[in-house]
Amino acid sequence: MIVEMITGASPKEVDDVVAKAQSLELGVQLNQGTDKTVVALLGSNTGQIPTDIFAVLPGVASVTRIMKPYKLSSREFRSGNTVVDCGGVLIGGERIVVIAGPCAVENRNQLRQAAREVKKSGATILRGGAFKPRTSPFSFQGLQQKGLELLAETKAEVGMPVVTEVVDPHDVDLVASYADMLQIGSRNMQNYALLTNAGKCGLPVVLKRGFACTITEWLLAADYLLAGGNNNVVLCERGIRTFEDSVRFSLDISAVPVLKKNSHLPVIVDPSHAAGHYSLVPAIARAAIAAGADGLIIEVHPNPKEALVDGLQSLSPANFAALMEELKPVAEAMGRYI
Ligand code: PEP
Ligand code: MN
Repeated sequence: MIVEMITGASPKEVDDVVAKAQSLELGVQLNQGTDKTVVALLGSNTGQIPTDIFAVLPGVASVTRIMKPYKLSSREFRSGNTVVDCGGVLIGGERIVVIAGPCAVENRNQLRQAAREVKKSGATILRGGAFKPRTSPFSFQGLQQKGLELLAETKAEVGMPVVTEVVDPHDVDLVASYADMLQIGSRNMQNYALLTNAGKCGLPVVLKRGFACTITEWLLAADYLLAGGNNNVVLCERGIRTFEDSVRFSLDISAVPVLKKNSHLPVIVDPSHAAGHYSLVPAIARAAIAAGADGLIIEVHPNPKEALVDGLQSLSPANFAALMEELKPVAEAMGRYI
């Protein structure tokens, strides 16, 4: 941790910082510049010490951490890549994994048709929301328990593992009893009760990035899952909120290499929620693979025009089939396959 003193800080103010550090059994290195003093605080447990303890002292200009605050999700903690097993499908290996399906489970036929079509085109995991976190309480909230039953039924019939969102910490065990992988959505990335329960559920978890959260906050959220003993965490970049309004969210493509550098967890990209429009999905999907993503999660609806949720950004089965063909050479160029 680095404590920067204000210009002209008095020797007493510097001494007080040093005394505080010593009282916490931290090592101290003083760097007295011509008009500024910088105090480096050394110790193996500085991560547990709040920066505010020093920031409040008179004469302190700023306090900066050197060590990354996240631990279990960091590459320093684990240098090799984590490969997550979702119902027999490996995420983070050589194969680019494509998860596809409707935004929401609407009825048996819709889900069945979506599952058959996406599987035929090469998707290996089925998505579909039974519990939908909607901005308006008057919007369709999902079929809930009935939706979970349809997911389990379709999984058995079509033969694909399923991922579905859990929005309530009390529903983790219920959702886990039907799904192969849980999704924690953007709006819940910092729902710590939900993360804590999902960390103990025994199933892999896709953790979507909060649309107003930094990568550091995201990896700290992943640490909640890992700290609960769940090592099977997949990070999903799905776009963040910026000033740009020509897309639904701005996909932070640089998050992919940043995460690959700083974390051992697999990274997938959701081009659908970023784009907000089906015509933009293919380009974002190609870019994601080229940036080094381990997979994609794409919304596909048998009849997007009739979709109850997110129809505009959903691909038709034909468009999805065409996209899967387009992605093959991109994956190959990256030394991967789809
Ligand atoms: C979804 O996947 O349908 C969804 C609600 O995504 P997000 O949490 O990224 O908005
Ligand atoms: Mn959606």
